[in-house]
Amino acid sequence: MQRRDGRLQRGRVYRMPEPLLAALETVFADAGARTVVVVEQSRYARLHRGMVATTRPGRILLAGSGADFCADPELVLHEYFHVLRQWHGGRLTRTGYLLESVRRGYWFNRYEEEARRFAAAELPRLRGLLDRTPLSAGSGP
Ligand SMILES: [Zn+2]
Repeated sequence: MQRRDGRLQRGRVYRMPEPLLAALETVFADAGARTVVVVEQSRYARLHRGMVATTRPGRILLAGSGADFCADPELVLHEYFHVLRQWHGGRLTRTGYLLESVRRGYWFNRYEEEARRFAAAELPRLRGLLDRTPLSAGSGP
């Protein structure tokens, strides 16, 4: 059975800015960041009430715009963590996530705890990497 690409997503594929992708590659020590598909204005993401983003294997679905997403580096780290470190390799499954949520709720769900911890720990590093990119060179010494 062949499924047409885009059936699930219904939004627009957003091209992440190159400096951010390069920084994510460094933080995750993994070229996988470039293969993640980011979809903005996703109706699917909007179905998850109150959520700004949701993830699936290989993709991040945003309720809002890609630009808003990029403006929040901690959220970027959090969502890429779900995709690169949890979905990838099969540690995270829909059933596993649902069971965790039923058992411990959203906030104390171990997948969420793990992603929050990682994002908080790596945020200064990501910010540092982004500060060194030519994009912010305009503010020079
Ligand atoms: Zn999360």
